[in-house]
Amino acid sequence: MRTAISELDLRRPKSLGEALEMLRDEPRMPVAGATDVYVALNFGTLPTKRYLDIWPLDELRGITVRDDTLVLGALATYTDCIRSREVNARLPMLVEASRLVGGPQIQNRGTIGGNIANASPAGDSLPVFAAADAAVVLRSAAGERRVPFTSFYTGYRASVRRPDELIVAVEVPRVEGQQWFRKVGTRAAQAISKVVVAAVRSPKPKIAFGSVAATVVRVPRTEHALASGASIDDALQVLGAEITPIDDVRSTAEYRRQVAKNLVRRFLSSRTSERSE
Ligand SMILES: Cc1cc2nc3c(=O)[nH]c(=O)nc-3n(C[C@H](O)[C@H](O)[C@H](O)COP(=O)(O)OP(=O)(O)OC[C@H]3O[C@@H](n4cnc5c(N)ncnc54)[C@H](O)[C@@H]3O)c2cc1C
Repeated sequence: MRTAISELDLRRPKSLGEALEMLRDEPRMPVAGATDVYVALNFGTLPTKRYLDIWPLDELRGITVRDDTLVLGALATYTDCIRSREVNARLPMLVEASRLVGGPQIQNRGTIGGNIANASPAGDSLPVFAAADAAVVLRSAAGERRVPFTSFYTGYRASVRRPDELIVAVEVPRVEGQQWFRKVGTRAAQAISKVVVAAVRSPKPKIAFGSVAATVVRVPRTEHALASGASIDDALQVLGAEITPIDDVRSTAEYRRQVAKNLVRRFLSSRTSERSE
């Protein structure tokens, strides 16, 4: 452990209101399940010494349906999503994504809010929320605002969230059309995505990718080509030009571009009766 734990200042608020007041009064890094934070502490890459433990805030934990909208509290874990009747019924692609995150320990502890706030372009839940036209609910001591998921990220590991705000929930409207999720990694479990995709089959398909650009992305030009009746080959040409993958330790840009095209071809040619293929 390269960070001396004894030097850290961790506050544990008793309520969401108290947590937001603490964030208003001084900058603190929220800690939810700590599955990302702990890795960074271990590498010694976190500049801050002030933390805010939000894990005990049960008011951020529930999964409900309100006005035909699925509302996932920021502290909903992957295990909560896998077990939730509402998520299985309304957002099965999130169940698929959750099953492929880490192993059971990470699924029990890692949260949806943490995945979103961490802002990695490889975060597995992010394409699901982008394809589902979700909204991120942010709250500060001054009030609450909703940001469309597709406007939440402003660049690599950057978002519109202010330091005094917490993600309190993500809202997912009813998704019309069959849902599809695929993650391509080095192996089936415990792997960071090389390419991850979530898609919804409808007259105007919705397709979102992770790991092919600096942030999670929808591919509107490809979606438009498909909705306008372009052939699969022509749509894949558009896709190839629309995404901007990079070479890194996990993969090459060329591999990612080809895999992204293969995934969209599979999505388009898969039978509608299949649950996730
Ligand atoms: C072994 C291992 C395997 C993993 N496998 C995967 C994988 O397959 N796919 C994947 O996507 N991820 C994976 N991860 C990464 C991680 O588990 C997820 O990103 C997880 O969802 C993070 O949630 P958390 O609650 O642990 O976040 P934390 O570590 O507590 O926080 C992460 C970041 O989000 C911020 N934050 C957390 N909650 C909030 C909130 N409510 N409001 C504002 N900011 C907040 C924190 O300040 C921090 O910057 C893995 C991690 C490990 C260690």
